[in-house]
Amino acid sequence: MIPLNEFTETLIGEEPHAGEQCVLIRIAGCNLDCRWCDTPDREKIIERVETDELADRAVKTGRPWALVTGGEPMNCDETPELLGALLSREICVLMETNGSFSLEKVPPEVVKSVDIKTPSSGFAGRFMESNLEFLDKKDVAKFVIADRNDFDWALNEIERLDLFSKSGVIFSPVWEIMEPKVLVRMILDCGLPVRLSVQLHKILRIK
Ligand code: SF4
Repeated sequence: MIPLNEFTETLIGEEPHAGEQCVLIRIAGCNLDCRWCDTPDREKIIERVETDELADRAVKTGRPWALVTGGEPMNCDETPELLGALLSREICVLMETNGSFSLEKVPPEVVKSVDIKTPSSGFAGRFMESNLEFLDKKDVAKFVIADRNDFDWALNEIERLDLFSKSGVIFSPVWEIMEPKVLVRMILDCGLPVRLSVQLHKILRIK
């Protein structure tokens, strides 16, 4: 059974695929407690649902994407089964994860957005580096940037992990802490093919 925190129809808020219509499946629970977390009620369970029933509900919305997020979706043992059930119903699947659990059981067709925690979050170093072998060019490694220290740390990690050879790389400003235009300047000055992602759902004030 999947512990469900939220099930709603909305737009994907961040890269990759920002702006696309989706059904958002938020799985309750997380193994971290990040300083910038925007899901304070992440432990709340509104209901427990069988994976097949949840996949059926998602497909019935008619939206082209299922966004599986959390909390931390890989904190739930049945998430890989849910991902497979969604894919078998021919809906595109994007999963947001903090990368601290193995992604070995995640079907390769799932688009992954892996949030590599920066120092300001309080959880730098929690990314499981063996997950690099499960990333490919459709996926993104995301760094949420609060300040110059996060930015420089992220550049070091990109080089150390050779990230550009594995996936896309996006930087996202911490909401109301890092001005997007300041981050844009830093990205342009660094000369690397980093992409900016802003949190569309917050700008539009939608879920
Ligand atoms: S991993 Fe995500 S859901 Fe969990 S505490 Fe950090 S920001 Fe919040």
